[in-house]
Amino acid sequence: MTQSAPITQLKGVGDEVAKKLAILGVRTIGDLITNFPRRYEDYSQISPIKDVRPGQVTLEAEINQVTGRYVRRGLHITEAIATDSTGSVRLIWFNQPYRAGGLKRNQPYFIAGEYGLRRGRFSILNPSVELVGDFPVNTARIIPIYRETKGLKSFTIRKLIRQAINEDTTLNETLPAGVVQSQKLMPYSDAVLQMHFPNSSKELAQAKKRLGFEEIFELTLAALLNKYELYRDKALAIPFHEDLARDFVSKLPFKLTDAQRRASWQVYQDMSKTQPMNRLLEGDVGSGKTLVAAMAALMVMAGRSTDSSAVQGNKEERASRRSATVSEAIDAADAAMRREAGGATGSAGRQAEPVRGSGGFQVALMAPTEILARQHADNIYKLLANVGFESHVGLLIGGLRPKQKEEARRRIAAGKIGLMVGTHALIAEKVGMHKLGLVIVDEQHRFGVEQRKKIQTKAGHMPHVLHMTATPIPRTLALTLYGELDISILDEMPPGRQPIATKIWSPNSRKQLHEKIDKEIDEGRQIFIVCPLITDSESTPGLSVEAVFERISKKDFKHRKVGMMHGRLKSAKKEAIMQKFLNHEYDILVSTTVIEVGVNVPNATVMVIEGAERFGLAQIHQLRGRVGRAGHQSYCYLVQSDSREPSSRLKALETMSDGFKLAELDLQLRGPGAIYGTMQHGALDLRVANLTDIKLIVAARNAAQEFIESGDDIKKYPHLASRVSALRAVTNLH
Ligand code: ADP
Ligand code: MG
Repeated sequence: MTQSAPITQLKGVGDEVAKKLAILGVRTIGDLITNFPRRYEDYSQISPIKDVRPGQVTLEAEINQVTGRYVRRGLHITEAIATDSTGSVRLIWFNQPYRAGGLKRNQPYFIAGEYGLRRGRFSILNPSVELVGDFPVNTARIIPIYRETKGLKSFTIRKLIRQAINEDTTLNETLPAGVVQSQKLMPYSDAVLQMHFPNSSKELAQAKKRLGFEEIFELTLAALLNKYELYRDKALAIPFHEDLARDFVSKLPFKLTDAQRRASWQVYQDMSKTQPMNRLLEGDVGSGKTLVAAMAALMVMAGRSTDSSAVQGNKEERASRRSATVSEAIDAADAAMRREAGGATGSAGRQAEPVRGSGGFQVALMAPTEILARQHADNIYKLLANVGFESHVGLLIGGLRPKQKEEARRRIAAGKIGLMVGTHALIAEKVGMHKLGLVIVDEQHRFGVEQRKKIQTKAGHMPHVLHMTATPIPRTLALTLYGELDISILDEMPPGRQPIATKIWSPNSRKQLHEKIDKEIDEGRQIFIVCPLITDSESTPGLSVEAVFERISKKDFKHRKVGMMHGRLKSAKKEAIMQKFLNHEYDILVSTTVIEVGVNVPNATVMVIEGAERFGLAQIHQLRGRVGRAGHQSYCYLVQSDSREPSSRLKALETMSDGFKLAELDLQLRGPGAIYGTMQHGALDLRVANLTDIKLIVAARNAAQEFIESGDDIKKYPHLASRVSALRAVTNLH
């Protein structure tokens, strides 16, 4: 029987059973045998009947004196006596009239079930029985318990699986022999059998290790193959101008953190090669990722030039049209254009074209929202102004006037803009940047191979890509989920940051909480309140954005200006609300986690999280990073939905301020699904592997690397090849 054969090829599987199996996701023989148990019950210890104690027991005994009768309509009882050399015990089955006919006299059986007192007599109720001569699946071993569905119990699933992996079905080894040997892994066929019907807990552990290893091996092999495939494409080699980097750093009002220095150096090294960079820059909110991005962009814009004076902007020209921010610069240009259109003549004229260093390349920075794009552009504009590159910064967002957009596109196409900042959609679709050397992607996981290829088609080369994220990803997950990326971590905050004072709050003491909030608002500060839901349900009264907004705006804070935002609103509407909060038109913003991805509201000092126990630690950590952005002491209040003793999980937030440690803790306590629940990812379908097992993950990744280096042809292993090719599509998030 082949693994791809439909399940109906098994004896006893007709349309009815097939339908039920389909509910469990089982359609083929292969699905069935890889439908591993959820848990196990240990019936492996066989007791002499004289030693039987109440609880789960297994006997080896003959079954005699079988009688069956209806005690009343609808209630049938089968009774029997099991006897071994030490004694006898009563067996009872309810409503299994076929039992009596199926039991053979004077033959040894394994009998497994719950021994206890029933109707005044000790007996075993509804025991499973199997002839000792057969391969037992329901008794006398560690029994697998499967995910069940109505009318399809583990009992039946066991029998089907046993049939599917009977002695004459050969399960071919799925991993290369070299890998099995060097890692001392249990062969595939043994591992599958031991997963379902373990001989001992030791062999079960080996089976889990083998299959878990295989999952991680496949996943990281897929990621590494993607990585090496990318390396076959050509990117622009960006020369490193040491003078320029030094000049830029020396003009900053602060010193780089060591982590920033390390990360920017890694980026510079990557970009100096013709292999396209594919790097993830990971760091807590406020760790200074934007600065690293600006340093990368600067070098790309300086481009090929070897004359360092040529790569400096034209100082005189700069002085003549200095603006504090990109927005101002754009507005100034816009005003000038309109004067022109209105017939005014004179020196104002059109904004002069910036002077570019000879041979510079272009950079696109993609942000998830318009507000963020604007903030990035303004920040980078200021940073680059120190070295005369600010006039190369352009902004392209939906909120610009058509004229402004047109002008932006024209300047891009003419190569006048070195760094285009905008939202994903606009940059990805509307812009032909022919000298695009680097794409920087902020907080978005949707810049993958497709987009990269599109740019390659337009520009004739692959861009380098730098992804930035504030999501702390534990190392084990990074190695598997993001295996095709190189990773730089900003694990160090710039000095002088005050930690966000975090406190768990009982819903019974809201009054004191409101006093604290009022005090902050009186001092001119603003407040976020984050709720787990948009609308209340019966089981969660009062926790939703709608309910909290109602309470806050009509009652508790009716003297304040309160806004509301959630994910069901159109993105333009969300942005407008966020902009109003930013402009301090609201004192309080009640929202779902849609504010999570980073707008900087320097004036916000309090983050209240309702129903806090429902959130992941890493998620709360990211949320609290929304406050404390401007040196004011800031606070995070975790309000539980009831007044029970807070969990140690939640308490960890009061004392820990390291996002990585919190994410690690969450991964251990709740699994990857809880952290990355909304993410579509192959790694989250892992059936056996434990994603916190760093030893296993490192071993599997090394083995995948060795396999690639060995030059062995993956096509020789059809099972592996097909798994890996499916996974290559899902690991390619970036
Ligand atoms: P992130 O994007 O990682 O959340 P930002 O790049 O926005 O962080 O930086 C947060 C703030 O810290 C900015 O105001 C920035 O100017 C400042 N900053 C960045 N690097 C340093 C540093 N090395 N020392 C002091 N302040 C820094
Ligand atoms: Mg940022």
